[in-house]
Amino acid sequence: VEDSVLEDIARFQDSFKGINKRYRLINRIGEGTFSTVYKAEDLHYHSFQNDWDIEAKENERPSSSPKKKAIRSSSRPRYVAIKKIYVTSSPIRILNELSLLHDLKASPNVCPLITAFRYQDQVVAILPYFQHKDFRDYFTDFTVEEMRLYFRSLFTALKWVHRAKILHRDIKPTNFLYSPQHSRGVLVDFGLAEREGTDWYHCNCEHDPVERAYRIKHSHHESLRETVGLPAMPSYPKNDQRPSRRANRAGTRGFRAPEVLLKCTAQTTAIDMWSSGVILLTFLSRRFPFFHSADDIDALLEITAIFGKRRMREVALLHGQVFQTNITSYSESGISFDKLILWCTNRNSGSKNSQTRVAALSEAERDAIKFLERCLECEPGKRITAEEALEHPFIAAPEE
Ligand code: ADP
Ligand code: MG
Repeated sequence: VEDSVLEDIARFQDSFKGINKRYRLINRIGEGTFSTVYKAEDLHYHSFQNDWDIEAKENERPSSSPKKKAIRSSSRPRYVAIKKIYVTSSPIRILNELSLLHDLKASPNVCPLITAFRYQDQVVAILPYFQHKDFRDYFTDFTVEEMRLYFRSLFTALKWVHRAKILHRDIKPTNFLYSPQHSRGVLVDFGLAEREGTDWYHCNCEHDPVERAYRIKHSHHESLRETVGLPAMPSYPKNDQRPSRRANRAGTRGFRAPEVLLKCTAQTTAIDMWSSGVILLTFLSRRFPFFHSADDIDALLEITAIFGKRRMREVALLHGQVFQTNITSYSESGISFDKLILWCTNRNSGSKNSQTRVAALSEAERDAIKFLERCLECEPGKRITAEEALEHPFIAAPEE
């Protein structure tokens, strides 16, 4: 463990009175915009009633006697993830995350909340520590079969989240902790999640000073192009007096669905399915991050490069927007995923014949692409749901 991390851990222990009586901090495992996450050992762990222990559950055999289980769980330390939510987050936002986690605590493949503590203005959430591998260490060599197992796990989580009418809003590899060894993952980070129908952006947290400060800080760098809405056209009014449309755009650039980029105000759980599709595209193309845009306008244009201008005009209209671009290199009908994936994986060299190009994709890849098209469907109403995905031949197929 690096010195700087040890210093950070010491500072945290000093500032959060009593935390070291209950937990022995081991390492810092995550550092993001909204929180810092530490790995720790639970010092109060001595009972074997803790059936939430994911790792213990994983190793459970139907035949193992209760006695054996007791010995195993009491002899092994229990590790937890301590998520320190930054004090700059508004109390409403923190409460939202904890209350959604609480509601989802019985959902399979969702990392359950054990408990939470507050000391003065600081809040920590305690979650079971889930052993996983860094996405960057496996996405380039996953077989299609391994992708199937990954998504079966992710969609199982999403099925329950969506059934509870919750939008996760930030589906991406760092928020889905996956263990290739166990073919199992857990969904974490409900920091941006919301209940369907409650638009954070228009809710009364506008009046919360911390929330407002947060929004001002985070909207600043995108505000200029934002007010324009779409790339400026020569005929576009210079001083447009119309109010700009505002909608929740929370999430990670590159994983945002077209309706989020187009500021649709009635977003649904379908946005999580788009983000899942972006992860599948990452696996198939072996490129991470697949989309790499500076802002929402660039993100729309990246999507246009694939789907073509015609589809973007249609989807924009669906959300009451007009899509215009003066960039001539984008085609009307876009390009196929077959071509895109072959190109990304350097398999299109030399051959101009589209027949041989398609032939270069394996049958398994072609099945995966058919499923990918159902996730990356521009119209949210037509996009596959998590529940449907679990029944889709690509995901439901028996293991080889
Ligand atoms: P943030 O809002 O800062 O993104 P997350 O909840 O996504 O916070 O956690 C950040 C990182 O911490 C994750 O990407 C993961 O690496 C690690 N992490 C979070 N929860 C756990 C857990 N239960 N077990 C192991 N690692 C975790
Ligand atoms: Mg996260």
